[in-house]
Amino acid sequence: VSRTMRRECRLGIWPGEGIGPEITDQARMVVDAAAAAADLAVEWVEVVLGKAAIESDASMVPEPARAALESCDGWIMGPYDSGLYPDEWKQGRNPSATLRKSFRLFANVRPSRSPSGDEGSTMDLVIVRENTEGFYADRNMVVGSGELMPTEDLALSVGVFTRAAATEVARVACDLAARRRGKLTVAHKANVLPLGMGLFRDSCLAVAAADSRVAADEIHLDALASALVERPQDFDVLVMENLAGDVMSNLTASLTGGLGAAGSVNVGHEYAMAQASHGSAPDLADTDQANPVGIISSSAMLLDWIGRTKGVGGAQEAASAISAAAEAVVESRLTTTDMGGQLGTREVGQKIADRIKNRR
Ligand code: ATP
Repeated sequence: VSRTMRRECRLGIWPGEGIGPEITDQARMVVDAAAAAADLAVEWVEVVLGKAAIESDASMVPEPARAALESCDGWIMGPYDSGLYPDEWKQGRNPSATLRKSFRLFANVRPSRSPSGDEGSTMDLVIVRENTEGFYADRNMVVGSGELMPTEDLALSVGVFTRAAATEVARVACDLAARRRGKLTVAHKANVLPLGMGLFRDSCLAVAAADSRVAADEIHLDALASALVERPQDFDVLVMENLAGDVMSNLTASLTGGLGAAGSVNVGHEYAMAQASHGSAPDLADTDQANPVGIISSSAMLLDWIGRTKGVGGAQEAASAISAAAEAVVESRLTTTDMGGQLGTREVGQKIADRIKNRR
């Protein structure tokens, strides 16, 4: 039976808030350049979420937008700024959390690599963060919130850890480790949270033990914070719960190219969502100063996932072309000011797209 590989994909995009529209414009332009070079047809589906959707549909993620994303292979998610939302919406589940939860994007994959030529010990690792539970009270309950306040002076924050979620995220981490250097580190604090984090650790280690491609070890989160600074070269793939993954991946981002350059992708079984590690940086909005490299790298990770998981021809090629071009541009210091360069958002995007086109 001959199977023709499809060479087309549907990509959703929400431009986002703050610096979002400026940086996602660049990501879209760079993806179009890489797709053209790889003979991949991309159909874009733009959706409205966040503040504009609250105003038009009284929902941060209206049903038509959700359905449009469901018809896509994956999407690019701009940053949201809940500071812009009416008070009664500020506490609710934000657009990003809503999509992570409703599409079961249970793993957030965040790579950090030292720029080449860096002196001393170098970092080349990936943090795989559990995305659906842990201490994130906005998403760890079916009804109500994981936080409660019985009196004005007493608050309880409930962490949720399930064997199912830990097992799923560990599988993503093991698959990734198998494609890299074959090493998985489970980071936890089971010494002080023996039940919750203990279950998380044991579930992850069980997945790794059954996977002959991977050698696993474990580390306490506090020791990890030091080790990431002192001996970053020891780590390949790290898996950890939600809150710890959020904190540690900001640390690894800042130890490498900075927050503006850090890419990430949220993956589930059927969908993936590219999302930069940073937020909406309202201080930089509409100034052409925001670094587009984070969202561009995230978009490359999305295309790589679509190529690998859905068998879409040209997507992995397009992804490698974007990563290589972004890396070359950063190494040539053709960057925004946060990375020590002098270019604007649009110029950086254009330099990356030009490199892709010239490789043809
Ligand atoms: P969130 O909680 O939504 O993740 P945050 O509070 O972590 O947001 P960010 O919006 O990520 O805050 O930004 C923090 C600061 O980092 C910004 O004010 C900005 O100065 C800088 N920053 C973030 N992203 C970028 C970027 N893409 N380019 C340049 N600087 C950035």
